[in-house]
Amino acid sequence: MENNGSKMWNFQGNGEVKSAPATTVRGTLTVIMKNVNKNDTRPTIPLGNGDPSVFPCFRTSIAAEDAIVDSVRSGKYNCYAPTVGILPARRAIADYLSQDLPYKLSPDDVCLTIGCIQAIEVVLTALALSSPVANILLPRPGFPFYETRAACSNLEVRHYDLLPEKGWEVDFEALEEIADENTVAMVIINPGNPCGNVYTSQHMKKIAETARKLGILVIADEVYGHLTFARTPFVPMGTFGSIVPVLTLGSISKRWIVPGWRLGWIVTCDPNDTLKNSGIIKSITDCLDVTADAPTFIQAAIPQIIENTKEDFFFNIVEILRGAADICFDRLNEIPGITCPSKPEGSMFVMVKLNLSLLDDISDDVEFSLKLAKEESVIVLPGVAVGLKNWVRITFACDHSTLEDGLGRIKAFSQRHAKKK
Ligand SMILES: *Cc1c(COP(=O)(O)O)cnc(C)c1O
Repeated sequence: MENNGSKMWNFQGNGEVKSAPATTVRGTLTVIMKNVNKNDTRPTIPLGNGDPSVFPCFRTSIAAEDAIVDSVRSGKYNCYAPTVGILPARRAIADYLSQDLPYKLSPDDVCLTIGCIQAIEVVLTALALSSPVANILLPRPGFPFYETRAACSNLEVRHYDLLPEKGWEVDFEALEEIADENTVAMVIINPGNPCGNVYTSQHMKKIAETARKLGILVIADEVYGHLTFARTPFVPMGTFGSIVPVLTLGSISKRWIVPGWRLGWIVTCDPNDTLKNSGIIKSITDCLDVTADAPTFIQAAIPQIIENTKEDFFFNIVEILRGAADICFDRLNEIPGITCPSKPEGSMFVMVKLNLSLLDDISDDVEFSLKLAKEESVIVLPGVAVGLKNWVRITFACDHSTLEDGLGRIKAFSQRHAKKK
């Protein structure tokens, strides 16, 4: 590019100023949080984001904490790590995930990342590099980081709907309609954020078959893997890796309740080696080559974290979530102006629909969330932030008394704003 003096700073080079994509969960919640009335003596109740680590009942396992201490104390992990992560950690994750698969993963199928966020970042960047006209299919409602990140890479996104009346299953008709010859992948998030749904094995098989028919990859965001507490068990998408190649994204953030430890993974679930010569795997490692790595001492703790965390830790977390989901569903259904179409079966979230015709002086989900913060010091996420206007996402990953308090305040708020007959 020519250096033309005053235009030096214009790195776009063509005089076009692109605005940054705005919607992130964090950004939206910051705006909502600013609305809390500082004179309210009650504690603010955070039902907006999914970081339960702040509640003592969600403290991670002692075994995981010990693993980190041992790793640091060994003095062996003050070094840089290799691009894809250190072998013992990749092997431990391959073995951990293989327990739920009909074939065995190899450590070479695993790349370590800085949380699931960087896994998303790297995979979308790699897909964008695969072709300048590539597009990917994202669920709506979904996890807005996908949209934001795709925009950074100029990767086109198209949305397929999840159907609330069918337990948030994929609308296959819509999916096939929006896919074309430039579609390279579809994303599914299971267990679901923001909907708290868990897909049955049959539904996932149908997803795999549809993706195969369309000739696209499945990117399975399983960051909430194993956090299920109802009829439907968690089945990893990689189970259907022989039907269609699957890139599984995950992390220890949610199951171990340590989002601050920043360790995630990209795993290729492709027992038939369909992707071997496709270039996508090389493109992923190329992207990892030019980004930062997950801290080496956290990587080194992974084998112990996985091996030494006992079943009773996971059981306890799932029990708390199950109880919280029950409380949430029961209380929400008592509230005028709100409907909760399906009880959450996994993850930490539920989507509820606002019946605005029953509420006075509330025009949409954003106003609902802003006024709720102001009047009741309860934070919820407006649905528009996850792609569904006039819905609200509520997280129930908090201790039960906090949750009861928060839902009680939402009820008081909705009763106060209910239209007089
Ligand atoms: C929390 C979350 C992530 C990010 O996970 P980290 O490991 O904390 O980076 C990715 N996808 C979904 C759907 C999430 O809810």
